[in-house]
Amino acid sequence: MTILSYNPADPEDLVAEVDAPGAEAVRAAVGRARAAQPGWLAAGAAARSAALTRFAGAVEERAEELTALIVREVGKPVAEARGEVGRTAAILRYYAQAPYAPAGAVHETAAGEGLLLTRRRPYGVAGLITPWNFPLAIPAWKAAPALAVGNTVALKPAPEATACALRLAELASAAGLPEGVFTVLPGGAEEGAALVDTADVVSFTGSTGVGRAVVRAATERGVPVQAELGGLNAALVLPDADPEQAAAHLAAAIAGYAGQKCTATSRVIAVGAAHEPLRAALVKALGLVDDAACGPVISAAARDRLTGAVESARAAGATVLTGGGVPERPGWYVEPTLLADVPAEHPLRREEFFGPVAVLLAAADLDEAIALANDTPHSLATSVHSRSLDVALAAADRLDAGMIRINAPSSGVDFHLPFGGAKGASHGEREQGAAALDFYTASRTVSVLPAGGA
Ligand code: NAD
Repeated sequence: MTILSYNPADPEDLVAEVDAPGAEAVRAAVGRARAAQPGWLAAGAAARSAALTRFAGAVEERAEELTALIVREVGKPVAEARGEVGRTAAILRYYAQAPYAPAGAVHETAAGEGLLLTRRRPYGVAGLITPWNFPLAIPAWKAAPALAVGNTVALKPAPEATACALRLAELASAAGLPEGVFTVLPGGAEEGAALVDTADVVSFTGSTGVGRAVVRAATERGVPVQAELGGLNAALVLPDADPEQAAAHLAAAIAGYAGQKCTATSRVIAVGAAHEPLRAALVKALGLVDDAACGPVISAAARDRLTGAVESARAAGATVLTGGGVPERPGWYVEPTLLADVPAEHPLRREEFFGPVAVLLAAADLDEAIALANDTPHSLATSVHSRSLDVALAAADRLDAGMIRINAPSSGVDFHLPFGGAKGASHGEREQGAAALDFYTASRTVSVLPAGGA
């Protein structure tokens, strides 16, 4: 099979054309990664730290080139692409310190004699399967902690982000990571499934359906697996919130990068008297999001699925408050769109659509707003907008989401803290921060007693 990756803003522009290696080649590459792992671990903390630091430097040195490649390959707005490159380098630098972190703890024994140690040990080859929407940052936030603690990495990127992933592999190699330590395996479902079938630990980010299949397959093999999946994220706006400020945050969360973030807002819930002023302010704010800030969606199929959903909602009685069409220009663009009166069972209120489209819902009070927000298994991120920190924090306690952002867009992540969703949005241990170091290592308990004798 040939992997073809096109520029979403200019579908005539073929960014990458690569032969997918097939399942056998994936198995062979994992074998080489497994052979390289003991040497990578034995090289020691200083060598792994230095390699990750050089990798960060290589990314920083090519920041403008990488920014342009992200823009070209996945259609990310340039400011966000530049931010992603900076974040990728920062993630690598952050985990470059991790080899020096404590590798366990020392405890008293229950009986009093001797001592007990816990020690962390890497699994071997980390099989990483990533989506296209953060083509450098997600590979980095999976690979860096896995490498820091002594695993080697085999990464299967999304086909739509093939060129970015291959460039990352070149930079890893230029930074002196030894052969077999960081391997990129372009491909699709076949290569992804082969990686799940052979890796020693699996980390997946992507859509819910694929992720569940990956979790089943890895669990069947008995290897540790984590999966970060799609979201159907809500934003709660309370009557005391400043409507203009809330609308600015919501417009960014709905339409920034065309809503193609797992943490994008797709359901806006206005509480009581917030409804009227928010509706007006949000229609205005979405109207100000231009094509440069929104960007195209990833494919013609994604665009058609979005416009089809808007049409079916309209046919079911919904009102299009703004947007609803596609701009007159080349590329796979969809207008930032806000709908009201969308029936409760319509797919736009039940499934992730991954585009710049949101529904506006009215709740009589906070209780109803929280019930609406929690009425989904895809509980990844929720934002709460209120001037009262007491009320916002109390609401946060009752929300199912894994990430709660107060007076900020639902989209936005700090890489040094644990990241993940609630209910069906996430499986397994958290990513990022120190949590990732635990995921990529097994803990062992060692008991030490005196040897006795003279
Ligand atoms: P996707 O599920 O289509 O693909 C993800 C990866 O899985 C790709 O590399 C793909 O090639 C691979 N894959 C496909 N079939 C496979 C199989 N049978 N076995 C193994 N691997 C397989 O997702 P996508 O379209 O690339 O990305 C968008 C999705 O990712 C959205 O649902 C979004 O919400 C989600 N996402 C989640 C997070 C998060 O952290 N929660 C972050 C970013 C994106």
